[in-house]
Amino acid sequence: MKLVFATANPGKVSEASNILGDKYEIITAARAGIAEEIPEDGDTLSANSLQKAQYIFDRTGQDCFADDTGLEVEILGGAPGVHTARYAGEPANPAANIDKLLKEMERREFESSIMREYGLETPHANRKARFRTSVTLIIKGVKHFFDGIMEGRIARERHGDGGFGYDPVFIPDGYEVTAAQLTKEEKNAISHRGKSLRAMAEYLKNNDI
Ligand code: IMP
Repeated sequence: MKLVFATANPGKVSEASNILGDKYEIITAARAGIAEEIPEDGDTLSANSLQKAQYIFDRTGQDCFADDTGLEVEILGGAPGVHTARYAGEPANPAANIDKLLKEMERREFESSIMREYGLETPHANRKARFRTSVTLIIKGVKHFFDGIMEGRIARERHGDGGFGYDPVFIPDGYEVTAAQLTKEEKNAISHRGKSLRAMAEYLKNNDI
């Protein structure tokens, strides 16, 4: 069965193919005839994944899915969220994103310590964070949603050179190292994207699709 994945990223296509297995042929949006960049300007991750999947479905009528991922940091009130990829501005720059994240967290920790010094109430500063992936699947025009979460915390400095994006500062729960210090297999087993794609695979299997 053919499924169009709203991505241009071959790494994502191969991750999805591995999880979904041989029964499904995953093709990129470009191979389905969509050459332009697919818009994503929603306020939430699920709005974005829906927008991307709907875009493909409206133009090709094919079964398809899309994903959108964000990093939600507690002390930053859930930021960067939908702005994760371009947190430090255009064009997307992973190193600048991490620099901004560490600086913003330091600033909030400082503000919070001053408030406590003056006896003002403030939520206790912590470094908890989570990656969340929202997947929208459209089968015969019907939409289905799947979420995957990886809980963890933000390190004070970078460690490791594997992975991508924020991995050098993200310490998954249950580990004392960053995601950039894990093997690809270790990371895929616990990652937000892996979990959301496995939930989608389970749905397809359980419904004989
Ligand atoms: P996307 O929706 O998959 O493009 O993800 C948005 C942004 O989230 C990426 O540009 C990365 O900055 C970040 N990101 C997504 N997944 C990961 C991950 O597994 N590790 C680190 N950063 C990630």
